[in-house]
Amino acid sequence: MSEAADTPGLSTRSVHAGDRRDPLGAIHAPIYNQSTFAFERTADLLDVIEGRRDGPLYTRYGANPTVAALEAKLADLEGGQAALAFSAGMAAVSATVLGHLRAGEQILCVGDVYGGTYELFTENLPRLGITTTFLRADEIARLGASSTPATRLVYFESPSNPTLAVVDIAALAAAARAAGLLSVIDNTFATPVNQNPLAHGVDLVLHSATKYLGGHSDLVAGALMGPADLLAPVAYWRKNLGQMIAPEVAALLARSLRSLPVRVARHNDNAAAVAEFLAGHPRVVRVHYPGLATGPERAVIDRQMRGHGGMVSLVLDATAEQTAAVVDRLRLFAIAGSLGGVESLATQPVTTSHHGMAPAERAARGISDGMIRLSIGLEDPADLIADLAQALKAH
Ligand SMILES: *Cc1c(COP(=O)(O)O)cnc(C)c1O
Repeated sequence: MSEAADTPGLSTRSVHAGDRRDPLGAIHAPIYNQSTFAFERTADLLDVIEGRRDGPLYTRYGANPTVAALEAKLADLEGGQAALAFSAGMAAVSATVLGHLRAGEQILCVGDVYGGTYELFTENLPRLGITTTFLRADEIARLGASSTPATRLVYFESPSNPTLAVVDIAALAAAARAAGLLSVIDNTFATPVNQNPLAHGVDLVLHSATKYLGGHSDLVAGALMGPADLLAPVAYWRKNLGQMIAPEVAALLARSLRSLPVRVARHNDNAAAVAEFLAGHPRVVRVHYPGLATGPERAVIDRQMRGHGGMVSLVLDATAEQTAAVVDRLRLFAIAGSLGGVESLATQPVTTSHHGMAPAERAARGISDGMIRLSIGLEDPADLIADLAQALKAH
């Protein structure tokens, strides 16, 4: 998948972007596990502090060569001018909102969002005077009418958790722009391999790098990509909230990003095989997977996604207890929250991500007691299918 002849392809950029050969010849950016950096002269220190020169200074400020190398790679993968790395995905979400809104201002949240984001918007931010109005994913047409003079930002995910509903990114970005609002997407589920929202007009893209970008369930981190002038106010909050990624984690994440296109291609293939198997299984009443979507969603997916991702949700005609029994019979899939790692995971949204939600609210979002969410890993697809087949055998 190479772009214009003068732009290296995504796999080449995943390996090389951000890495500058260091003086000793280290093949990738070394780990500068330092809190602070020394200067020859006070004048040199002032050059960095007063912004005349970029350079290492103090790690919490982001002025650390290992973090800078990671951020250059992250920016490149999403086609952003710049990127910020964070200690967690939620740090990226919270600093983005705090950097761009003040007390009395509002967020418009379109479609389903991650549970932690929902809590931030409905519990934490109202204490600071920042409130959120929620629209369903199919209510983009109401965006202008729902915006007030105090509305600043439109926030959304696509595909969303756990129904893998898809939002028309270009349409939403255009509607936000027309209403004078900043648009922010959480691109965690799609990854930059399957979808680049900045190319569809979104202002800022963020990730829980804990998931596919890290990819091995061994780190927690976040990322934000976009134009430098929109990142600057966010960097200011990241600095003073202490949300900086640790250099060791930054190096581990950069290591993972070098294999991101290879991993995501295999996640896509494995999930497609599992989704196809589930769609043909007599006990499965519904499979949510972008690759199986029909109707108007199909055209949107084909326009904005290059691959369909590693997340698959299935629905059984069963109670929560009967569904738990199926999950408990899985051997290869681990019962665990999170996603995007090399290992396959299974959860019931009613027992994990949406446990605290009122049953009526869950039903309105299409989350039934019989739903199981799968994060499809990098195992052999035949083994994953065999495990699901034995777990689904009626008792
Ligand atoms: C996990 C997740 C987050 C939060 O990320 P952390 O790294 O756990 O802070 C945000 N958005 C989505 C879609 C996620 O899956």
